[in-house]
Amino acid sequence: MKIICIGRNYLAHVKELDNALPAEPMFFMKPETALLAPGAPFPYPEFSHEIHYETELVLRICKSGRNIAESQASDYYDAITVGIDFTARDLQSQCKAKGHPWEIAKAFDYSAPMGKFKKISELKHPEDIAFGMKLNGEWVQQGHSRDMIFGFDKIVSHVSRYVTLCEGDCIFTGTPQGVGEVHVGDKLELFLEDEPLFGFDVI
Ligand code: MG
Repeated sequence: MKIICIGRNYLAHVKELDNALPAEPMFFMKPETALLAPGAPFPYPEFSHEIHYETELVLRICKSGRNIAESQASDYYDAITVGIDFTARDLQSQCKAKGHPWEIAKAFDYSAPMGKFKKISELKHPEDIAFGMKLNGEWVQQGHSRDMIFGFDKIVSHVSRYVTLCEGDCIFTGTPQGVGEVHVGDKLELFLEDEPLFGFDVI
């Protein structure tokens, strides 16, 4: 399986990082080794001094396809969860300044913890999915899928023009505003539709 991540998909987050608005979805990938086992702590990597959380809805692809039309895209995903797109912001800034790819800032081990998937059809409000994250018991990010610049169908259609999507692939759909740093000792709790989904510690 592969993990595809959409960047700059919520207006307020694009502004908080002072980035340009994308004309179409932009994406990057993380390898399978970015997963974190359920219940395991996140080990703070030794190569960064500025690890940021980005709380995101994550789609699961249920059928393989390429060049998927936007009008057909909803047939290709059926489940959703919440995950963290951990980012070494210090390394990412250095890569951006040099015009280099960002892989070292995004694709490192355990950089994509995610919860159990739920069927989208069983959600209370599938048309506007609420999600969020509490850091040490305080809300730091709360998002709604209606605020995405590019919706799920557009994302699936766009990515599949370039990369064949396979059953089991996961797509992080971008973070709302409120990104920030984590530190050793922090506790993260993730929520889908205001219900606790999973949590873990930073060690
Ligand atoms: Mg992200």
